[in-house]
Amino acid sequence: MPSKSTKTSSADITHMPLVRLQGVGPALEKKFASLNIRFVLDLLFHLPFRYQDRTRVTSIAALQVGSDVVIEGRILGSAIVFGRRRSLLVKIQDQSAVANLRFFHFSAAQKASLAEGKRIRCFGEVRWGRSGVELFHPEYKIIDEQDQFPITSTLTAIYPSTEGLQQNRLRNTIEQALMLLKQSSTLIDYLPAELNQKFSISSLKDALLYIHQPPKNAQLSPLEAGMHPAQQRLAFEELLAHYLCLRRLRDNTQQEKAPELTPNSTLIPALLNRLPFELTKAQQKVFSEVSEDLAVNKPMLRLVQGDVGSGKTIIAILAALQAFENGHQVAVMAPTEILAEQHYLNFTELLADLGIEITFLSGKIKGKKRVEALKLISSGESQIIIGTHALFQDEVQFKKLGLMVIDEQHRFGVHQRLALREKGRSIGESPHQLIMTATPIPRTLMMSAYTDLDCSVIDELPPGRTPVNTVLLAESRRSQVIERIQEACSKGRQAYWVCTLIEESELLQCQAAEVTFDHLQQQLKNIKVSLIHGRMKPKEKSEIMNQFKAGEIQLLVATTVIEVGVDVPDASLMIIENPERLGLAQLHQLRGRVGRGSEKSHCLLLYQKPLSDLSKKRLEIMRSSNDGFYIAQKDMEIRGPGEVLGTRQTGLMEHKIANLGRDSHLLDDVKAWGESLRDQHSNNIDPLIDRWLSVNQQYGNV
Ligand code: ADP
Ligand code: MG
Repeated sequence: MPSKSTKTSSADITHMPLVRLQGVGPALEKKFASLNIRFVLDLLFHLPFRYQDRTRVTSIAALQVGSDVVIEGRILGSAIVFGRRRSLLVKIQDQSAVANLRFFHFSAAQKASLAEGKRIRCFGEVRWGRSGVELFHPEYKIIDEQDQFPITSTLTAIYPSTEGLQQNRLRNTIEQALMLLKQSSTLIDYLPAELNQKFSISSLKDALLYIHQPPKNAQLSPLEAGMHPAQQRLAFEELLAHYLCLRRLRDNTQQEKAPELTPNSTLIPALLNRLPFELTKAQQKVFSEVSEDLAVNKPMLRLVQGDVGSGKTIIAILAALQAFENGHQVAVMAPTEILAEQHYLNFTELLADLGIEITFLSGKIKGKKRVEALKLISSGESQIIIGTHALFQDEVQFKKLGLMVIDEQHRFGVHQRLALREKGRSIGESPHQLIMTATPIPRTLMMSAYTDLDCSVIDELPPGRTPVNTVLLAESRRSQVIERIQEACSKGRQAYWVCTLIEESELLQCQAAEVTFDHLQQQLKNIKVSLIHGRMKPKEKSEIMNQFKAGEIQLLVATTVIEVGVDVPDASLMIIENPERLGLAQLHQLRGRVGRGSEKSHCLLLYQKPLSDLSKKRLEIMRSSNDGFYIAQKDMEIRGPGEVLGTRQTGLMEHKIANLGRDSHLLDDVKAWGESLRDQHSNNIDPLIDRWLSVNQQYGNV
């Protein structure tokens, strides 16, 4: 290990290991690594998410409950008190009044150090406690009479952290990095100086110093909103780095070879002839885009967006046929078992009598059946393979994969997209990728999160659909709702009753659905009610779905497993319980299960009172619109892009400072700057990406 005494002599912080800093040993280094901080430079780009103002000492008499303050005074005494919980109470006094510090966890040594007569400075939140104004567990320092300990001169940054890494520790380490930055001249600005002018910032270095240590007179609200020019300058650079990374990924893809799958033939027209409907104009246009891509020897990376019910499945089937005709295998992957099974049924119905071997594979296919399926896939006997993410696993070996179809892709991030392609790569060739999503992606997100993809939009629904009529009803009207089901079902209609997620637990959700099912079954005596949820055996599920499709079941109580893809045209009524728990995109998906036939459909959103203003606003959007694109745009404005993209689960597009919702106004310029950088300063691209994206985030290296 380099000796600590050299710590400021070498000024190159870019690759300086953290252990060169004071107080950083292997244990702390590990904690930092879990925050993707490996070098001193990374510390500088670990940015605060809020601030505290510790630049002034507040007099005790002026304390206001709820505010964060610094107070300073002399200790009058301390005592252990036994209330509901044992605590240490320390009385302190300044010129104005007396306040108490309360500690629930404390050591004997700590108690001893807080001795009568000592001067103390502390920082904490003011609360109203049993003994008057109290600070619970404040941070504190005993200050020497001789040392006039200076009060903090800048705002105090609060950083994203990880378990076992205290803010103090983190801040102290970052402060050392900032010291080095001040002394060092090696922080390279990879962007032309005009960028700083655009944001009225003198340099990258100054922007960083400002963000970590804003001066005491800085305004907190723009800083906390991330709108200070220094922050926007960095957000811009970060978005640019992501953009360039995705562009590089795209370039890499363009270098790869893919099979030329030419549309040569008789099969596609024959299939089209057999369909009970004609493709809409939008479907024709989208399929011709797909078909052209497949015919070229570079891997297609195409995202097909189309609202629920716009008819994406047939596009996938036609593409699969084109690959099949060229002697290649096709993998079709869906996010849930039910949806995968439904694809399996759809594909089989339309393609089986063309002599195509279709295989189903999910985690629930086990034992002998699994071994058989794997053999069919690796030998190439099976030509179309449909399943869940089980298709990802190592044991699945394709013989000659030409196309992968990923349905409802918003659940997969860039990483999964890449890993999957990697998986399908056989000697010298990458498969084509067709990605389908029913969650429309607002244009700004398309430009940033999906820069590596081409996009087609099915912007038209098949004819004869009538928009779903959506009604908001309070839970107190439940019995009326049940009457309404009675009436609809006695007229031969079918209905869904959807129980939404309780916390994040599938088990709880299933139990809740069981309770509702029992209840509804008792109340609706003449109606055949059934239950479907994610914990049932695949066979049970598909039996129930088939009975529902055949009209043998009239009311289907379900969890959100039916969210995507399930297609039963005769169902025309849907009740969604506690819709306020779901995202708008998810509600729109669910609602898309009705309104598929010619019958006028209704969706009742049975909400729990009281509704927050935000929930009211969101449910009102659902009530007033059937347009998935509009709804997604609104959802993004209200809840941010993470929710829309489903990045919570996927870790896609994690930003240090940028926020796609807040910063989408930057994206047009990001794109322009990105392109000009590629033309004129392409050497700067790699270091820029390195700076902002950790190695495992660098999609290009997968
Ligand atoms: P989604 O885009 O939601 O996946 P699907 O592919 O499941 O939609 O199609 C929804 C329903 O519309 C299916 O029953 C399908 O057979 C039907 N469909 C698809 N295209 C057309 C069309 N051009 N005309 C009429 N019905 C269509
Ligand atoms: Mg679908």
